Amino acid sequence: MNFDFTEEQKLLAASVHGFAQAHLVDGTLARAHNPRFPFEVAQLMSRQGLMGITIPAADGGQGGTLMDAVIVIEQVAAVCPRSSDVLQFGNFGPIRTFAEYASPAQKQKWLPDLLAGRAVMSLGMSEPDAGSAVTDLATSAKPDGAHCVLNGTKLFSTFSPDAKIFLIYVRFGPGLGGIGSVLVERDTPGFHIGPPSAFMSGEEWCELHFDGCRIPAENVLLGPGGFKKQIAGFNVERIGNATRSLAFGRYAFNAAREHVATRKQFGRPLCEFQGLQWKFADMALKLEGAQLLLYRAAVNADRGLPSAYETSVAKAACNLAGFEVAHEAVQAMGATGYSRDTLVEWCMRRTRGWMIAGGSIEMLKNRIAEHVFDRRFDQRGRQAAAAE
Ligand SMILES: Cc1cc2nc3c(=O)[nH]c(=O)nc-3n(C[C@H](O)[C@H](O)[C@H](O)COP(=O)(O)OP(=O)(O)OC[C@H]3O[C@@H](n4cnc5c(N)ncnc54)[C@H](O)[C@@H]3O)c2cc1C
Repeated sequence: MNFDFTEEQKLLAASVHGFAQAHLVDGTLARAHNPRFPFEVAQLMSRQGLMGITIPAADGGQGGTLMDAVIVIEQVAAVCPRSSDVLQFGNFGPIRTFAEYASPAQKQKWLPDLLAGRAVMSLGMSEPDAGSAVTDLATSAKPDGAHCVLNGTKLFSTFSPDAKIFLIYVRFGPGLGGIGSVLVERDTPGFHIGPPSAFMSGEEWCELHFDGCRIPAENVLLGPGGFKKQIAGFNVERIGNATRSLAFGRYAFNAAREHVATRKQFGRPLCEFQGLQWKFADMALKLEGAQLLLYRAAVNADRGLPSAYETSVAKAACNLAGFEVAHEAVQAMGATGYSRDTLVEWCMRRTRGWMIAGGSIEMLKNRIAEHVFDRRFDQRGRQAAAAE
């Protein structure tokens, strides 16, 4: 067992660090406070070969590993946290499910623009009555000759104000086996995108309404029975969310460490007070522990798809560590940390969201408990499960 990066991984980290220092230091704060997708950063990342890291070269990607993509997010987030959202989109988000399961024609049509940073894709999974219970989703897809007709509503989709293409989880028929997914272009008749709403983090999302929306049948990504594949792809998204949680916590930690090392009160640097030293020791423990779990899940990924259990453990640990560390960093920096002139409070707000998004802490713990007891706990209860 070896806990060091390989020589190649060290080189990758150093080169991405150099790139981020050269191109992303200026405008870090402004980028974070702009809720819209930073297309100019996406195009910069694309030119640098940082989009589609785990997508095969034959499809226009880089043919790298999930761990490479994790390293890249860490290095960029350490300099400009907001820019790492672009890497999430280009390497971990719905684009990965798309690249894994799309037909050659679908890939040819959409991947070049997505990988070049000219277009962004949004994931429509959550609905008014299907949040944690995602398999309760009701948005229907009915085949109709050469088309498929969609009806339903989606909520909370990241990047929806700017997305050109949407990967939508739909129901072709009853039960788990009836779930699949389709691709919908922004300007499709019958697809109505509501005005933007904002999360606590400032990120925006729009309600998506499908009202007899007709899409070509060739826009079906995964037909009935596709749910398990969609969730396997979604585990990659969780690794990206975990990586950003931890990286944003570390960004706040570094800013706070710098602050307490230099700011004096009572005639001494703040770091000389034991009450603060122990805060930083606790923060370091949380960051280091979660990092190992994250790396384990990424390194053990099979053909780029990490295991559900290792992903659950890593995401829960990184979400908790990222938020708790950013929260303590705000405290250690006093009013400076609470001010919007630093990114520390922003990191705290962003990391809070990942405790809910992409598998809440509670749902991840449900999954971990199933591993602990080596049995399935149906959240609907026995009767409902039998009826399904
Ligand atoms: C920042 C952010 C980005 C998001 N991006 C997207 C996106 O791009 N696309 C998309 O489709 N959705 C997105 N979402 C929505 C996200 O997937 C849902 O918020 C999530 O699935 C939880 O659903 P809910 O909010 O309806 O909460 P609910 O399911 O109503 O849950 C409320 C609370 O109850 C807990 N709970 C529910 N069931 C159980 C249980 N069985 N055991 C224990 N606790 C339980 C939950 O953990 C939570 O704390 C995003 C959300 C956030 C915050």
